[in-house]
Amino acid sequence: PVDPVPSILVSMGLVESPSGHHPAWLVRALGTISVMWSLVLLSRLAIVMGLGGATAIGWLAVAGPLAAILTVLLLLVDAAIIVIPRLPVFLRLPPHQQLRCVIPTILLSGWLYALVAREVLMDGSPGNTQTLLICVILPALVAVSIFGGQRVLGFVYCAASLGPFLLNLPPTVPLAVPLAGLAGLLLAAMAQARADQQNLQRRLENSLRGEQAQALITDFEEAGQGWFWETGRDGQLTYVSATLARKMGKSVDQLLGTPMTGLIEKPDRKAAAQGEGERTVGFHLSARSAFADIAVRAALPGEECWWSISGRPVVSEFGQFLGFRGSGADLTEMRKSQAEVSRLARFDSLTGLANRVQMMATLEQCLVDPAGRQGSCALFILDLDRFKSVNDTIGHPAGDALLRLVAQRLTRVVGHDGQVGRLGGDEFQVLLPGMVDRHELAKLSETIIHSVSQPYVIEGTQVVIGVSIGIALAPYDGTSVDMLIRNADLALYKAKDSGRGAYRFYSQDMHADAEDRRQLEQDLRHAISTGGLHVEYQPVVASATERISGFETLVRWTHPVRGPISPTDFIPIAEEAGLIAQIGEWVLRTACQDAGGWPEGIRVAVNVSPMQFANPAFPALVMSVLAKSGLAPERLELEITESVFLEDSGNTDAMFARLKALGVRLALDDFGTGYSALGYLKTAPFDKIKIDQSFVRGAAVKGSRNGAIVQSIVSLADALSMETTAEGAETLDELELIRSLGCSHVQGYIYGRPIGNAAIMARFATGDLYARASGFKSGRETRKTMLRSVVLSLADEDFEGRIRNISSGGAMIEGLADVPPGALIRIAFGSRYAVEARCCWSSGDRMGVEFVQPVSLDRVRASEARSIRQKGVAEALPQRKAG
Ligand code: C2E
Ligand code: CA
Ligand code: CA
Repeated sequence: PVDPVPSILVSMGLVESPSGHHPAWLVRALGTISVMWSLVLLSRLAIVMGLGGATAIGWLAVAGPLAAILTVLLLLVDAAIIVIPRLPVFLRLPPHQQLRCVIPTILLSGWLYALVAREVLMDGSPGNTQTLLICVILPALVAVSIFGGQRVLGFVYCAASLGPFLLNLPPTVPLAVPLAGLAGLLLAAMAQARADQQNLQRRLENSLRGEQAQALITDFEEAGQGWFWETGRDGQLTYVSATLARKMGKSVDQLLGTPMTGLIEKPDRKAAAQGEGERTVGFHLSARSAFADIAVRAALPGEECWWSISGRPVVSEFGQFLGFRGSGADLTEMRKSQAEVSRLARFDSLTGLANRVQMMATLEQCLVDPAGRQGSCALFILDLDRFKSVNDTIGHPAGDALLRLVAQRLTRVVGHDGQVGRLGGDEFQVLLPGMVDRHELAKLSETIIHSVSQPYVIEGTQVVIGVSIGIALAPYDGTSVDMLIRNADLALYKAKDSGRGAYRFYSQDMHADAEDRRQLEQDLRHAISTGGLHVEYQPVVASATERISGFETLVRWTHPVRGPISPTDFIPIAEEAGLIAQIGEWVLRTACQDAGGWPEGIRVAVNVSPMQFANPAFPALVMSVLAKSGLAPERLELEITESVFLEDSGNTDAMFARLKALGVRLALDDFGTGYSALGYLKTAPFDKIKIDQSFVRGAAVKGSRNGAIVQSIVSLADALSMETTAEGAETLDELELIRSLGCSHVQGYIYGRPIGNAAIMARFATGDLYARASGFKSGRETRKTMLRSVVLSLADEDFEGRIRNISSGGAMIEGLADVPPGALIRIAFGSRYAVEARCCWSSGDRMGVEFVQPVSLDRVRASEARSIRQKGVAEALPQRKAG
């Protein structure tokens, strides 16, 4: 800060400036005075001795003791003037105090000199006054010139040296003359002091501003935020920040005088096309036009460094072009963070794999080769099997860790052949440019499935998941991104459908299948709204008494064109299409309605889809249906599958409690087919466990372990005081075994197939509440009719054959004549499942075989599914009794 109007005393340096800005130049004047004072001294001595005409010693004799004393005093004072301003103690004083110290010595010096001169020259006679005045004024002039800006001292000196004469002035000189001279001197001193002070102030302001600007610039440069440059008219650098020079690995001096454009890398083709780079800067420099924020690449070999440069022409006040001045900033970090941002936008943050956006972009590139022609590539879409349940059991952080491990395995297996991406959730994608060899792709798929299916150890827990793969090839299966993805998706759907852990290549009929499914969904919607569904009831029989304890409600749909469609086929469609709630509600209403007309004590069981179970409004629905039908709650049994525990969203327990509170019974359906954990049985309030058909069927066959499983389920249920129903008992042997194992109830064709309500009512009308077992007493499994092609290998030769019927133990095969009984034959059901069999009999081109090891009909069916559906000959009928 600077004083707005400096007071005269401040200007003269006599008091401290309130702003704290001391007139330093005043003080510096004191230093000059001390140096120059010897001149004053010299001129005095010369004058006094010259005019007095005496030598130094003679003069002393002439002058007398008073003059000698005064001279000594004068010399002392002058010595003080010469010495004192150089003393550190003095220099540390504030300027105004320094001045206050010096003023008395100057005053004394002037006064003493005038006295000495008078003493030596005048002898007290007034006639010599004029000579005297000259003697005094001449050194005064020297002194005043030495005082320079320090006019207050000049005034003091003059006033002091004139003092002695004013006392005894000759009458010829009026007092007014010296007084006027002194007054003039004083006024001049004051005016000059003020002007000096104002000058000082201006300079101070300017230098302050300059210092501030310099400090800001330095800070800015040092912080590495940017740098400045300046060129002359010729475009050569005249200024450049030291930070920039450092970055360029040169000194500022080396850079000065070189062209400004030398700092910038010559533009490459791409940058120039964007209107950026050295060319643009060069253009502006020669056009002498201002430019701002041009991105250029620094001329730093081997290092990628980007700057943003701005500049303006500098023009003199007369309009002359002087050069350019401007600034530059480092863009590298920004560019890097931009690159990071775009990397984040293109990569999955969890696994670091490419994300959906990036995969789509890459796929798009793959579909067009560099020459603009159609490119070829393979697209895998992968979906993890059982990931959701693992994720729910082990927790989400562990689920994330699992996904990362899967990503690692995938990248390792795929290697440099293609790109792996994560689409989200547990869905991955693999893109293999130029790779369309089905054989190779099949091998790769198998490796992927094998690798992903190996156990993982996460937080000390071992988990196992699987993966299904759908494959589509460009250009055969699609030439656009959308088409290819949709077809790979379809193939994945099929892969999942045919029992997980499989891969499928897309084929045209999948499309037909999808279309078929869509059509079926539409037909189902129509059937629901037009009453096209009906229900049938299958008896559930108490095994000890053979009394019918209830019926299970099974929904039926007879398609107007396709005929009866199994609920195993259309319930999943209904679930996927969001139709299950409607169907379920209708079944529940119908069942309760019908059961209301049945004799007391006969229960009705209704299947509840997990999706219905997840709906919080479900208990309210059950309550209203019960109220409307008047059915006692304990006569309604809801069949729930284990899968409700897989989708456990935390309110499963609450749902059980609410249903229980209604008084209805709960049965656990299809026990043993889904979830492997048994923990939930402890808390879930089931009244009954329904043992799945797969454990019951064939349990009586020798060597089957199913019996043991059934037995342990029964003892488990007993321990938890739950009833058991064995489902799907078909033969007398099975029935007998089930009874002996202690199942409390039996439900199966042996006691009756599902029938309509009218048939039930007719039966009850007879008062007969007992069921009678009727069926084969079969030690051998019932064979299923199954028409399908197989490859038979006999003595290293392959033949085409056809299965007529099959069970897990044996089959009847057509197509090979005169096979000797006892011959060993290899039967391949498709490419992935082959078994050994021994011929039992042969007649014409038919033969009966016995499998060396039990065959899984499910696996046979899975490898079959497509061809059967395609040919429309899927039927399953009991074939014949054991021979
Ligand atoms: P589920 O609940 O296990 O039903 C038993 C299935 O086994 C029924 O097939 C029944 O006809 C069949 N079955 C009974 N005894 C035997 C036997 O001795 N041998 C053989 N081979 N099969 C036997 P269905 O009616 O085809 O039902 C299949 C599945 O569809 C049911 O399995 C159930 O999960 C579902 N389902 C049926 N009706 C409904 C319904 O109204 N709502 C829901 N959500 N699902 C239903
Ligand atoms: Ca059921
Ligand atoms: Ca069942």
